[in-house]
Amino acid sequence: MTGNTKPMKILFAASEAYPLIKTGGLGDVIYSLPRTLHQMGLDVRVILPAYRDILEFKPELKIAGWLEVQGAGHSHPVRILESHDERLGVPVLLADVADLFDRPGNPYTHPDGYDWPDNAERFTVFSRAVAQLATGTPDIGWRPDIVHTHDWQTGLIPAFLYHLKNAPPSIFTIHNLSYAGIFSHIEYTALGLPDEWWTSEGLEFHGNFSMLKAGLLYADHVNTVSPTYAKEILSSEFSNGFEGVLKSIRHKLSGLLNGIDQDIWNPKTDPDLVSNYSEKWQTFKGKQENKAALLKEMGIKPTAKKLQAPLLGLVSRLVEQKGIDLILDIIPELLKTTDANLVILGAGQDYFERVLTMLAKQHPQRIAFHSGYSESLAHRIEAGADLFLMPSRFEPCGLNQLYSLRYGTPPVVHKTGGLVDTVVDASEENIRNKTATGFVFDEPTPEALLTCVLRAIKIYNDKPTWRQIIHTGMRQDFSWTHSASEYAALYNNLLNTTKNG
Ligand code: ADP
Repeated sequence: MTGNTKPMKILFAASEAYPLIKTGGLGDVIYSLPRTLHQMGLDVRVILPAYRDILEFKPELKIAGWLEVQGAGHSHPVRILESHDERLGVPVLLADVADLFDRPGNPYTHPDGYDWPDNAERFTVFSRAVAQLATGTPDIGWRPDIVHTHDWQTGLIPAFLYHLKNAPPSIFTIHNLSYAGIFSHIEYTALGLPDEWWTSEGLEFHGNFSMLKAGLLYADHVNTVSPTYAKEILSSEFSNGFEGVLKSIRHKLSGLLNGIDQDIWNPKTDPDLVSNYSEKWQTFKGKQENKAALLKEMGIKPTAKKLQAPLLGLVSRLVEQKGIDLILDIIPELLKTTDANLVILGAGQDYFERVLTMLAKQHPQRIAFHSGYSESLAHRIEAGADLFLMPSRFEPCGLNQLYSLRYGTPPVVHKTGGLVDTVVDASEENIRNKTATGFVFDEPTPEALLTCVLRAIKIYNDKPTWRQIIHTGMRQDFSWTHSASEYAALYNNLLNTTKNG
């Protein structure tokens, strides 16, 4: 709180937010963190570009004001829309520029999968609009005390704010350092970004410029979404070329673990499941009904044998980061030496989609692949699978392993980033101590993944141990309560220490 009575006003600026638009974990966080802060008494609003998908969601909208923002070679009128629709959790503002955002496809790519060619302009215009709004243009009767920005699409906001008078302080959260928002000098010039910022200590990045770098340099505080990833990104292996910059901003860098929305991801009440269940053994049997229904839905006959065999689940963007190639590499051996079956939901790189489609065709009663994006199927896989695969090469936090823990589906994870901070390996000692929640392997290699999956399958067949691991996992608290308090403390601290605080 500021002063004694007034709640702190926080503006979240991001490129996606569930339930309006979501391509990954960022969308979940921009729904659940503002909501928790709001429940704690903060006055939080979220601003997003007015994509077509959002307008088609039909939130109740009213016009809050207009402004004019410079784009590439010409300026754009920006309409600020405001929604207090209850489905959104907190009030949402939209920066409406039809030329840039009213299109099919996802926030970043054309329906055919390639990046929108004007992404530099789209997110520069959005960032300029947010910075102006945060400094009172247009006056919408609400001005933030802090602007909390997320990932490269909003990285220019801290830079614009830093150079504006009477601007609130800003935070930049890195949800994934491997997307750096890199664009050319030609685009930089066309967008009218200041010449003085084009230095190697500024926005320039190996002959191009990086919007992520702008956020890192100019935000008053930078954080990432798990303590382990915050440490990892200081090494060349994980820094994506930003090691030097990150080391230079170490004094303002921290790691705060993401939480999950425990209402939306709750096996006790989840409306997408055929049978609700909890960790209590009497209702936990409902999980088996979800397994049978999932197998059937995915085209695998739920025979007694199939129900007994371990079912491995995967819900993921199909990109190298997620270790999809490692899974593809071990499938032949898994099929040969175990009775495990696989259900996979994902969209992403063409190559992965093609190979998975082919494998599912070759082994229709062992592997099922649903290509595309389906929020409700994601819930059913979390509930119906026995083991969840998440062999990410790196993982800033990861939400899917948290969902799988909550759904009694122990995750198999690589020892990296947020996966280290959230999953306790079923080593003999951890099983003895009753702290084990999943299966962790050290090296991102097919051999290590296979050994780990085989170890998990062995324990799957030892039912008392298996139940104990599930039970421990389901009882973990991954709610936002703790981390949201840490964010609130961070906002407070910034208000007290920055120039305008
Ligand atoms: P990332 O943000 O890197 O994609 P996370 O594990 O943090 O990974 O979050 C992924 C989120 O996106 C989860 O909510 C997951 O269920 C969802 N997701 C990913 N791919 C799909 C898909 N194909 N269909 C439905 N949900 C998906």
